[in-house]
Amino acid sequence: MQILTGTAVSPGIAIAEAVVLDAEELRIPRRMVTKEEIGPEIDELDSALATSIEEIGAQHEDVKHRLGHDAADVFNWHIGVLKDPILRKDIVGLMEGRQYSAAYAVSTVMRGLQRRFMQMKDPLLAERMRDVQDIERRLLRNVLGKSAEDISHLSQEAILVAHDLTTSQTARLSSTKIVGVALDVGGATSHTAILLRSWGKPAVLGLKNLSTHVSGGDTVIVDGLNHMVVAGPDEATLEDYRSKRASFVKLIDALDELREFPAETADGVRVELHGNIEYPFEAGVSRQKGADGIGLYRTEFLFLGDDDPDEEEQYEAYCKAIAGAEGKQVTIRTFDLGADKVTQKKHFEPERNPMLGNRSIRYSLQHLEMFKVQLRAILRAARTGNVRVMFPLLTTLMELRQAKMTLLDAMEDLDEAGIRYGKDIDIGMMMETPAAASQCKEFAREVKFVSIGTNDLIQYLLATDRGNERVSRYYTASHPAVLRTIRDVVRTCVKGGVDCSLCGEMAGEPVYTLLLIGLGLRKLSMAPNNIPEIKKLIRSCSMKKAERVAKRALTFETDAQVTNYLRAETKKLLPDDPI
Ligand code: PEP
Ligand code: MG
Repeated sequence: MQILTGTAVSPGIAIAEAVVLDAEELRIPRRMVTKEEIGPEIDELDSALATSIEEIGAQHEDVKHRLGHDAADVFNWHIGVLKDPILRKDIVGLMEGRQYSAAYAVSTVMRGLQRRFMQMKDPLLAERMRDVQDIERRLLRNVLGKSAEDISHLSQEAILVAHDLTTSQTARLSSTKIVGVALDVGGATSHTAILLRSWGKPAVLGLKNLSTHVSGGDTVIVDGLNHMVVAGPDEATLEDYRSKRASFVKLIDALDELREFPAETADGVRVELHGNIEYPFEAGVSRQKGADGIGLYRTEFLFLGDDDPDEEEQYEAYCKAIAGAEGKQVTIRTFDLGADKVTQKKHFEPERNPMLGNRSIRYSLQHLEMFKVQLRAILRAARTGNVRVMFPLLTTLMELRQAKMTLLDAMEDLDEAGIRYGKDIDIGMMMETPAAASQCKEFAREVKFVSIGTNDLIQYLLATDRGNERVSRYYTASHPAVLRTIRDVVRTCVKGGVDCSLCGEMAGEPVYTLLLIGLGLRKLSMAPNNIPEIKKLIRSCSMKKAERVAKRALTFETDAQVTNYLRAETKKLLPDDPI
C-alpha cells in the first residue's frame, strides 16, 4: 500500500481500478521491465515498427491513387522516420540501458524528436512536429496491441491516473466511466483543476510520480477530502474508505436540500452566489445547485476542441447558456486564451513564459477580427436575457478602452447589417493583475462592474505559477498581500458605486467565506458544486461576526496564521463538515 499526498481540487472519495493514460490517450503505463523481459520487448518493438511501416505503405498507395503523388508524399517521410536505424537504436538504447518498457522508450524518444522539430526556425520543418506525433501514436498503438483503447470505451468505472491532462482531454471526461482523477502535476487553480471541479468527481493533482508507480488494474483510492491518493490499499483501509465515501454522499445530499433557500446571513444580509461555467449546459447545472446567476462564463473553452466556432456557433452557445440561467444574470467573459488554454493550432507554438505572455485580452486585441466576431455573437445573444460582458486580465486602461472601442465597432457592424442586439449591455472587467488593482479607482470610473479574479491575482501578486505543483506551497489566498489587495479593491468599488464580485476559486472555499463577506463582498461566483456548502455557511453566521473575522484576519503577518485562524472560525460554525 502506498500513500501519496498532493492537492485536492475536487472533494469526495473514489475507489476503483486505475487506468493509466499517457498524453495521447493511449493506456500505456510508464513502466520499467526486468532484464529478462527486455528481449521479448525488443521483439515487440520490431514487430510494431514493421506493422507501422506496412500500414503507412498501404495508406500511401491509397492516397496516391485517390489524390496523386504530392498528397501521398508525406507518407514516404513517415516511412523514412520509422526505417531510420538511429530511431531504433535510440529506443533500444533506453530499453537496454534503463530497462524502459518498449512503449515508454518509444514515447520518450518520440517526444525528444517532437521537441527538436518544435524548436526549428523554419516553419515548414516545425510543422513536421505533427507528423512526428502521428508516427508516435501509430507506433504506440502497435506496440501496445489491444490495450490501446480510448478511455471513452471503458466498460467499468475506473480512476484515471496520468502525468497530466490537457484542458480538452479533461473536458471529455464527463462522457466516460471515470469516477476519479489522480495526476502527477497541476496546482489547485490550474484550468485542468477548474474543469475537474466543475465535473464534480474527486480529484487530486500534484502527486509527483504517481503515474510511474501505478499500473492499469491496480486498486486506487482518490481522497479528495484529505489531499491523498492510496495505491494498492489493504482490506482495512478499503473498508474505512467505503464508509467515509458513504458519509460524504449523505452530506452532499443534505446540502442539496438548501437549494430553495437564499444565501442570507442570520442577521438578514443577502449574499448572491453565482456559478462559474465553462460550457453552456452548466448554466442549468448551476441553477439546480441554487445559483443566483452565472458570474463567470469562460467562453474560451469553445475554442479548445478540434474546430474553431464561427459566429453562429458562438451565438448558439451563448443563447444556450442564457436560456439555462432562466432569466438570471449571465456574465459572459470574452476569450481568455493563451497560457494553459490554447487552441489546437496554438498548441504547437509554445511560449517561453506563457503566464506572462500573449494571453487573454492581449491575445484578443491582437486578433481583432476574431474578437469582433465574438463580441457580435455576445451582443446578439444579449437580446435573449440578462447579459453582461466582461474583459479579462487587464493591466492598462488603454486595453480597456481598446476593448470597449472594439465592442462599439461590433455594434456598428450589427447596426449596418440591420441585425438586432442587446444595446444596453453592462461592461465590466476582471480585476486580476496587481497593476489593475492598484489603479482600481481609475478603472472603476470606466466600467459598470468589477469581478476579482483571485486565481490570477494571486499568481501575479505572489510570483507563483498557479499550475506548477513545485511551487504550490507558495500559492495561497491567505497571504496578507492578497487579503489587503481584495480589501482595497472592494473598498474602492464600493466608494465608486461599482458592482464588485469575486470569481476566483477562493470564492468556493468555505475557509474564506467569512473573510470575503466580512470584507464587504455581496456577490461570489464559484464552481456550481460549491454553492450549497457556501450557502450553508453564510446561513449559519451573522454579518457582524464575519466583519469581526475579516478585521482580525487582516492583522496577521503570515499566511499560516491567517489560514489557521480562518479554519478555526469556520470549523466553529460547521463542526461536522470536512473543512
Ligand atoms: C481568475 O483568474 O481568478 C479567474 C476566475 O479566471 P481564470 O481562472 O479563468 O483565469
Ligand atoms: Mg484569470
